[in-house]
Amino acid sequence: MTKHIFVTGGVVSSLGKGLTSASVGMVLEQRGLRIKMQKLDPYINVDPGTMSPYQHGEVYVLDDGSETDLDLGHYERFTNGPLTRDSNYTTGQIYQSVIEKERRGEFLGKTVQVIPHITDEIKSVIAKLADDDTDLVITEIGGTVGDIESLPFLEAIRQFALDVGKENCLYIHLTLVPYLKAAGELKTKPTQHSVGQLREIGIQPDILICRTERSISEDDRRKIALFCNVPLEAVIEEKDKDFSIYEVPLSLVNNGLDELIVRRLGLKCGSPDLSQWKDLLHRLRNPRHEISIAVVGKYAEHRDAYKSIYESIDHAGMAFDAQIRVGRIQSEQIEHEGAERLLAGYDGILVPGGFGERGIEGKVEAIRFARERNLPFFGICLGMQCAVIEFARNVVSLENAHSTEFNKDTHHPVICLLDEQRNITDMGGTMRLGAQDTKIAESSKANEAYEADFVQERHRHRYEFNNSYRQQFEAHGMTFSGTSPDGKLVEIVEVDSHPWFVAVQFHPEFKSQPTAAHPLFKGFVEACIARHSNRAEQTVV
Ligand code: GLN
Repeated sequence: MTKHIFVTGGVVSSLGKGLTSASVGMVLEQRGLRIKMQKLDPYINVDPGTMSPYQHGEVYVLDDGSETDLDLGHYERFTNGPLTRDSNYTTGQIYQSVIEKERRGEFLGKTVQVIPHITDEIKSVIAKLADDDTDLVITEIGGTVGDIESLPFLEAIRQFALDVGKENCLYIHLTLVPYLKAAGELKTKPTQHSVGQLREIGIQPDILICRTERSISEDDRRKIALFCNVPLEAVIEEKDKDFSIYEVPLSLVNNGLDELIVRRLGLKCGSPDLSQWKDLLHRLRNPRHEISIAVVGKYAEHRDAYKSIYESIDHAGMAFDAQIRVGRIQSEQIEHEGAERLLAGYDGILVPGGFGERGIEGKVEAIRFARERNLPFFGICLGMQCAVIEFARNVVSLENAHSTEFNKDTHHPVICLLDEQRNITDMGGTMRLGAQDTKIAESSKANEAYEADFVQERHRHRYEFNNSYRQQFEAHGMTFSGTSPDGKLVEIVEVDSHPWFVAVQFHPEFKSQPTAAHPLFKGFVEACIARHSNRAEQTVV
């Protein structure tokens, strides 16, 4: 029988509910349990695919091509349970499905209502994940308790325990215990109110995870336990980690969370094997190299816009015991201040994916700087397309070469719309999405990094390299080291004469884990370390 954990959040948003849920999943998985993670998002958009990164941060893409919430990135980095389209539902999808059923006449003339029809639909997407191969489903409810739009989800998870038996469900509520400077103390009242609201809906949380910047005293924990109607041992502190997010699972274990969950749900499993994670933290604390990488993007000021890229850089850093300072550089700023001023001093440059014209010329400038100075360069998706534009203009001498995404009338459309995209008018879910095969040429940087001739990587794009320029580019020293198996779509480009210049049409950042850094990120970081030590040697001489 599959058991269920529901994670809700209270008091404020941005408490790190995704990270905490992923950490809970990770520790339970390390105890030998087979888990599946799921996120239910209360917004009405069908998926985050059409939302601005300012609204929602990165759009995380799965193998099956679904465009999902960035919390699924935490799930995949921390756990190994399979994630699919069924791992992320929004209010929009729930309603869409109910309305389609109504149109097909499936409700037999009944009035279609939030309760029971919407709540039934929500319960069915949770139940879908329960099967013989799954010990535990962890469902995170997006938003904050008290939001109007969360209500149907909370009602559904309340009912769920009645359907499958209370003993098979566990409710974790993540809350904030703020420190008030003026009073010089931690305040438990917001937590009491938040739990009060949950109880009004009919949910009594089993466990409270309390986010706080200071340690919570035993007295305060007792107070929370008493007012929120949970035993003292179920008030778990989760203090801010100023060092690394990878400390979170270990601190939850230290505070007894996994033990409590296992006992409450009667799960049969061993004790957690955290050796790999402890090793990671040890490496982080004892770096042998210190390097810096500039990430040049349109949304550089926004931390969540390139979340998986930053994480993947960290993973590769850990693999080489390197502490990496990441400079988040807004590409538009390069247009105003110049690449030299903003990029000199970095050991490598990464240009991530993106959409829209703003800041494109800054990215092209950054890539030129990396190419001309022999600085390791890693381009991802739009970053690859910009590398092609830069090479076209400055090496192949194709004046004003561009992507037709930004200039429809350019004389040299070196990047153009994929054939399959020509008749598409809808914006949502219509890009070339998800896992696709790539064939990798022998003796290329990509082959060296992957140590493989075939790989599968995730995609999310509408534009591609224009094949009519292939020969011209090759004659000038660009290699097309990765293509679709039929050779038609360019997937990886490299500059032959450069120490490490690799750009890819896909998104390797969606397949990197702290315990298994992505080969291309490793290749890039290794090249940055080499560049750094060369530079240091030159300075000494
Ligand atoms: N805008 C480009 C395209 O649609 C790149 C997409 C991306 O970087 N994800 O092809």
